[in-house]
Amino acid sequence: MNYTKEQRCSETFMDGWQRRQCMKGAVITRDNKPYCGIHDPEYIEKKNEKSRQKYERELNLRVAERVRELNLRVAERIAGESCHKINPDNPRAVAESIGDMYNVLKRCFTYLEALNQTVYPSPLKLREDISKVLAKVEDK
Ligand SMILES: [Zn+2]
Repeated sequence: MNYTKEQRCSETFMDGWQRRQCMKGAVITRDNKPYCGIHDPEYIEKKNEKSRQKYERELNLRVAERVRELNLRVAERIAGESCHKINPDNPRAVAESIGDMYNVLKRCFTYLEALNQTVYPSPLKLREDISKVLAKVEDK
């Protein structure tokens, strides 16, 4: 369908060396200017906002993934160094025991929590130390 210049969308764009007016019929008026559906400034703004939000979500996911990878690398290095300090001849044995050490520590903590703390002052210090280690391991 052909529209008169006044019935058409007011958006213009370069076509080679010439500036041309959009050929589509106007369906909405913004700031006293007619626009077709795809050149409606509010439609364009909504579309751009959606794109920005999608880009931000994707960027945040990529950043979070990168941070996770870096934290893992740092943790591996620290774990390797710590295992070597504990058992320089066999750091791998220490690494393979980390899960067991953690579980035993948790059981000790639970046990000491159940003790009458006023009668056994020395376990209190142990309990405090275990609590600190558990907090560090559990990142609390
Ligand atoms: Zn248009």
